[in-house]
Amino acid sequence: MEIIQKNDEFRSSMQKAILDESPDGILVVDRDDRIVSINRRFFKVWDIPLPDFPLDQLLHEVDSPNLQHALSKVVHPEAFLRRVQELYANPDLEDICEIQLKDGRTLERHSSPLYNAGHQYLGRVWYFRDITETITSRHAQEDSETLYRTAFQTSLDAIAITTLSEGIYVDVNQSFLNITGYLRQDLIGHSSLDLNIWVDPADRKSFSEKLRNEPEHLKFEARFRKKNGEVFWGLFSVSPMTLNGVPCLMSITTDITQSKAAQAELARHRDRLEQLVEERTTELLRAKEAAEAANVAKSAFLANMSHEIRTPLNAITGMAHLIRRGGLTPRQMEQLGKLEGAGEHLLNIINAILELSKIEAGKFVLSEKAVSIGAILDNVVSMLLTHAQAKHLQLSTEIEGIPENLLGDPTSLQQALLNYAANAVKFTETGGVSLRAEQIENCADSVLIRFEVRDTGIGIPEEAMARLFTAFEQVDNTMTRKYGGTGLGLAITKKLAERMGGTAGANSIQGNGSTFWFTARLKKASLPCPNQAFTPSASAEDRLKKDYPQRRILLVEDEAINREVATILLQDALQIVDTAEDGTEAVELVRQNNYDLILIDIQMPKMDGMEATRVIRSLPNGKLKPIIAITANAFSEDRARCLEAGMDDFVAKPVEPETLYATLLKWLAQTPPV
Ligand code: ADP
Repeated sequence: MEIIQKNDEFRSSMQKAILDESPDGILVVDRDDRIVSINRRFFKVWDIPLPDFPLDQLLHEVDSPNLQHALSKVVHPEAFLRRVQELYANPDLEDICEIQLKDGRTLERHSSPLYNAGHQYLGRVWYFRDITETITSRHAQEDSETLYRTAFQTSLDAIAITTLSEGIYVDVNQSFLNITGYLRQDLIGHSSLDLNIWVDPADRKSFSEKLRNEPEHLKFEARFRKKNGEVFWGLFSVSPMTLNGVPCLMSITTDITQSKAAQAELARHRDRLEQLVEERTTELLRAKEAAEAANVAKSAFLANMSHEIRTPLNAITGMAHLIRRGGLTPRQMEQLGKLEGAGEHLLNIINAILELSKIEAGKFVLSEKAVSIGAILDNVVSMLLTHAQAKHLQLSTEIEGIPENLLGDPTSLQQALLNYAANAVKFTETGGVSLRAEQIENCADSVLIRFEVRDTGIGIPEEAMARLFTAFEQVDNTMTRKYGGTGLGLAITKKLAERMGGTAGANSIQGNGSTFWFTARLKKASLPCPNQAFTPSASAEDRLKKDYPQRRILLVEDEAINREVATILLQDALQIVDTAEDGTEAVELVRQNNYDLILIDIQMPKMDGMEATRVIRSLPNGKLKPIIAITANAFSEDRARCLEAGMDDFVAKPVEPETLYATLLKWLAQTPPV
């Protein structure tokens, strides 16, 4: 009896412990639906107030209908009760179901009938477990699965999951099927190797190697074969993953066939463009070389033409000079004057053409000498005086605020101004021409001077203004034009002004005169500089006669008339003249005689002036001899070549007697008589 009692005691405390410690709310009712047992957890799970008296009493206090009433407050009662009634109607039924509480939680209810040993129904046990968290995480997992599956299925990229070991397809998405043209069943359970998907086995090999070395976030570009044999370019990235415990690879492949084709097209275009650029560059280079060659040819042509024209011109002007010296009747004097005038005109034209081509060929070098603006204006006036007086024109000059001691190229300044002033006189019938110079800018080491020539002449129509300063342009371009000229003067002045850091322009009203101007930048000299004379001394001939008579001169000239003219000019200045017709003869004469000075032509048959000079310089008595070139080659590089060959100076053809005398004077003064 005691043992039985002890067993009962043990059982009841065990039951109590199970009830108290169970994570589930437990309710036991008898066949009459009266509560037999209930634990605290029950109230917690249902979130209904726990009675404030011991639960043992509860059994007496709270009967099942009351409890149902309490529960109906936290649960939707109809559905709940319907289910409960079903169970009561079928006491044998064992049931698991989920109960939705009003507070949003979910309880899992488990109910099983209780029987005695004779299988007599005693009552029912109800278990209630709060499964809200489990459900939430289950939902989260389901959501995430749905999300990933949707992403997997709807991705435009081809996605495949393959086993890491053998590359067997485990899953592929729709895009994979679309891109490759395979059916799902063609792929699952097979490998890319079986299906011959890689076009280039080398790609597959290199991919496997990369996968071994850097399996994380591997990116790879390769060509793949579709089911129908077509090839496409794929850019794919792989990530290792585990699927149901099996190491796998997820590959995402983008079809880049089109972008590859575009790239290739672009590369083709680029190559074509590069080729075009290369071809064009070669063409341009050839054109440049051709242009340069043409320019050289042009310069050579000009030099030749200049030489060919100057040589007979030298004879014409030289002979005229000699005839004038011989004494003539007044009528002959007048005729000779016209002859000389025509010669001078011809020379001016040649000079203008040469000047312009020199500037255009970039062969024009500005000198840097002392500049007297006053002297330049006076020189220009004196050159035009006779002409202006003949037309009864007033010539005036005005200078404003120009400092002393300026450095520049006086010859170019004078040439630029003379071009304007000569035009002004030419195109003016009444009134006058005024020459003006003023300083318009004063900087630390330079000044900008504006030169202006104003006339009261015929003026220029407005529509012709734009054509001015262009080479070979004249306002009156007709063949019967009244005024002569080359149409080069303005272009030369503008180019000279630009070379001197300035510019040029004009204003004019037709019938009401014109103003032509140009500017030039001149340096300020740090020391006062003496003014240089531009024209050779007029007394050179007299001084030669007086101070250096009877010097022995060798004249080397192949052209008979020019030889005769030069001989007479030299003899007139009381010099003793020996003549040679070419370089070989000259060298021979120098070997045998001792000359004070040698005048030598450049272009000659047999041996030219350059070669002869080099030979003479190698002779014992030729080393220090003044050798002066007389040449019709008028380019500055011809002068440079003369000096290079060992000559000392240079006189241009047609020979101006005064220039020739001044040059002789300069060199004889430095040479002791032989
Ligand atoms: P050229 O005088 O030898 O023809 P230029 O280049 O010096 O060449 O002048 C070009 C043209 O500009 C002249 O032919 C003339 O039509 C016009 N021109 C120049 N200066 C004047 C001026 N002072 N008055 C009127 N027209 C002028």
